Amino acid sequence: MAGIETLFTNAKLADGTLKDIGVAGGRIVSIAPAGAVQDAAAQVDIGGALLVPGFVEGHIHLDTSFYGDKWIPHKACTDGFDVHERVAFQAENMAQAAPMDERARNQLDLCIANGSLQMRSHVMVDGSVGLKSLETILRVREEYRDLIDIQLVAFPQSGILKSPGTPALLDEAVSMGADLVGGLDPASFDRDVNGHLDVVFGVAECHGVGVDIHLHDFGSLGAFTIEEICARTVALGLQGRVAISHAYGLGDLDTDAARRIGGGIAAAGVSIMTNAPGNHAFPPVALLRAEGVTVFAGSDNIRDSWWPYGDGDMLGRAMMIGYRSGFYTDDELSAAFDVVTYTGAKALGLEGYGIAIGAKADFVTLAAEHVPEAVVAVPKGRRVFKGGRLVAENERVIRYDALSRRGPASARLDR
Ligand SMILES: [Zn+2]
Repeated sequence: MAGIETLFTNAKLADGTLKDIGVAGGRIVSIAPAGAVQDAAAQVDIGGALLVPGFVEGHIHLDTSFYGDKWIPHKACTDGFDVHERVAFQAENMAQAAPMDERARNQLDLCIANGSLQMRSHVMVDGSVGLKSLETILRVREEYRDLIDIQLVAFPQSGILKSPGTPALLDEAVSMGADLVGGLDPASFDRDVNGHLDVVFGVAECHGVGVDIHLHDFGSLGAFTIEEICARTVALGLQGRVAISHAYGLGDLDTDAARRIGGGIAAAGVSIMTNAPGNHAFPPVALLRAEGVTVFAGSDNIRDSWWPYGDGDMLGRAMMIGYRSGFYTDDELSAAFDVVTYTGAKALGLEGYGIAIGAKADFVTLAAEHVPEAVVAVPKGRRVFKGGRLVAENERVIRYDALSRRGPASARLDR
């Protein structure tokens, strides 16, 4: 077939078929039975491995991880989980951490090496740090533009109404390049749901950007806030562009109540992000999907002040979501995989996602018989391709010479 720059041969697709995938200009231009295509400028043998689209890391914090830095022991809250106290611990820890750009690169290398090629990161924007963190992460995003696509959320970690100057900072953050505006527990943190959401949705409306709000509130307080967010989403015509991260309260509801609110969330086109945290209730993934809700996932905190866990592996995250959700059948395991791939892409509004003609040639190889086995086994030794170019192999990101952009210049140093 004419025009193919690189032919990826013997790739096993999710449906079990063996295909040759032609790539040109960073996009998939052909998908043909293995051996059918003879004419390509270059060939890469996938060797029968499972070929899946790059993972979608839907929620991470590039500014606050200590991954690759010295170990900072976790400090427990004095009386149960308390967002205010955790924010205070974080400020203490950040003051003694390595420079932010270094830590962000460490985290990005980790995620890319595991196969994440699309990411949404929250970045602190509030009265305590101003726009400094965002300036740093915007620079790092630019450095990594050939390796991973990154959306940034202006995240008011210290609240909006309680942190002087934050409304104006959120507005400026979006002008500077943040793609979405965030929020944090409008009720329990700022103690003013309407006042908080007025600012968040005001910035979204003014700039025409999406919204992604951290909501840790449990039970009926969480459910109430979700309904308020859904109502504003519909009122502003922002369906498909608003996400609620964590939404722990959905995990506290009985089945009928969860179905009812799930139907409302789906109708409002609001997405729900979960990382299946280990120590409390989390959204019922299967129930919400059955109601038509877009459920996506992220690592959230990786080795930071909030918890010591996290390995940047979204396939491992799919396993955790499946494990905590009691997913056993192949369909259920495939659903967990969908959360970190196609549904994640839908939540982030990504163009050209998937293994299809016309899609971006962003894919990962997995040593697994099929998707359900991959979710259970979480195989390593992956090859990661961005725009048809190898960007990571054997858990290492490949550095390219920025001048030539033709071939690998040096491998990443071991840390
Ligand atoms: Zn978060």
